Amino acid sequence: MNDCIFCKIISGDIPSDKVYENAHTYAFLDINPTNKGHVLVVPKNHSRNTLDIAAEDFKTLMETVHLLAPKVKEATHAEGINIITNNEKASGQEVFHTHIHIVPRFEDDGHQWWSHTSYKEGEAQEVADKIKGTL
Ligand code: AMP
Repeated sequence: MNDCIFCKIISGDIPSDKVYENAHTYAFLDINPTNKGHVLVVPKNHSRNTLDIAAEDFKTLMETVHLLAPKVKEATHAEGINIITNNEKASGQEVFHTHIHIVPRFEDDGHQWWSHTSYKEGEAQEVADKIKGTL
């Protein structure tokens, strides 16, 4: 994709702090890390996000995430790791090339990512049925 910033990073047209690359994926440091060592893993084939990525590209992407997540933890001495992906603007996606965040976490880092809600009586079953109904 001509105007995709992550395609330009993969091609080398825009510089990045690369940590890993193979035939299908590319991994580099997030320029504005949640914590230092925050890595983004991207597929070399452009897709918008994990809602439209080809199954094979998602598989190779997650293989790289599986390889790198414990390495990021080891290298940063993190106490935990978040593996997250944002899909569409409402979820926080800002760059529309599929990417998985590997975020080193520490007990006292102060980041709070989500609040929680609850279900009314019977509502959880209704929601579960709706999801099952699409499968
Ligand atoms: P998201 O909000 O899930 O779309 O995340 C996009 C991420 O890309 C953000 O965390 C940005 O800091 C990161 N980002 C944007 N431009 C660059 C860049 N040129 N190099 C590295 N990371 C970038």
